[in-house]
Amino acid sequence: AKETGKGRTVLYSPRDQGPPEHDISLEAAMFKAVREGEFLLYYQPIVDARTKVIEGFETLMRWKHPTLGMVPPVRFIPIAENNGLINLLGAWALKAACMQIRQFQEVAGRELYISVNISPRQFRSDRFLSELDDALAMSGAEGHQLVLEITEGTLMVDPAHAEAVMEKMVERKVRIAIDDFGTGYSSLAYLKRFPISVLKIDRAFVKDLPGSHKDAAICKVVLDLARHLSLAVVAEGVETEDQLAWLDEQGCHYVQGYLTGKPMPANVAVTALKENLYT
Ligand code: C2E
Ligand code: CA
Ligand code: CA
Ligand code: CA
Repeated sequence: AKETGKGRTVLYSPRDQGPPEHDISLEAAMFKAVREGEFLLYYQPIVDARTKVIEGFETLMRWKHPTLGMVPPVRFIPIAENNGLINLLGAWALKAACMQIRQFQEVAGRELYISVNISPRQFRSDRFLSELDDALAMSGAEGHQLVLEITEGTLMVDPAHAEAVMEKMVERKVRIAIDDFGTGYSSLAYLKRFPISVLKIDRAFVKDLPGSHKDAAICKVVLDLARHLSLAVVAEGVETEDQLAWLDEQGCHYVQGYLTGKPMPANVAVTALKENLYT
């Protein structure tokens, strides 16, 4: 409670700035969940659009709550971003992903990469680069096996800082992907300024393909842009053969979606990798 100038008392806490769906009991449970190790990573295949060969995996965080069951990231990531827990969770995910990539590669007997989501707050943290180095050193994974997914918004907050951090990532051969490309408040100038390697076309532009003329136009332009800038493109949320065929025809090299593999636990991903080898 807080006194206002007029002597009235209103309920106030910094939490009030949180998203509308903000759930205080969920927030309390999260601290406990971190201690009890209830968070885990799922892995979704990123595949070659033509051959369906798995090129890598995106890690997607899951919270296995003892009574609520699986809590989706849309419910807990915004809370974690808000209260700072994302720094802890993000550092853990980076480490866990780097450890996992080694097992995946052993099973596959070839190079693979792992693509990890980095939240805006985590990217801006002073500890981010040292956590990245720790994850690489601890796991023995190499920088070129790692892609970090950031959003347009992350770049726009403090471009000079973003540029400095990204230079360090490039020194480590860690690649940078722009997640949800085209959905943020962005300017194309950042494609010139920052050392970006991958554009991920958001599901919003994929879900109505190939029927939607507008989405088709947007995807074509993104693919054309990427081709001229030598960027790789991953189309997200591919659910149908028609979408896949259209994207392949337009020269989109990589796809990710329920059609070619849902997010799955590590042991299931290992099986998918083994089967993928012999198809
Ligand atoms: P995102 O990074 O854009 O991840 C893609 C989301 O689309 C995932 O949702 C994935 O399960 C879902 N998806 C994949 N293929 C399909 C499809 O074919 N159809 C449909 N309808 N959906 C598909 P998920 O796992 O619920 O994650 C939601 C968001 O939460 C992610 O969006 C990302 O922004 C955030 N997130 C997840 N894990 C992490 C993490 O470890 N760190 C951070 N900072 N954010 C994370
Ligand atoms: Ca992502
Ligand atoms: Ca995305
Ligand atoms: Ca998204």
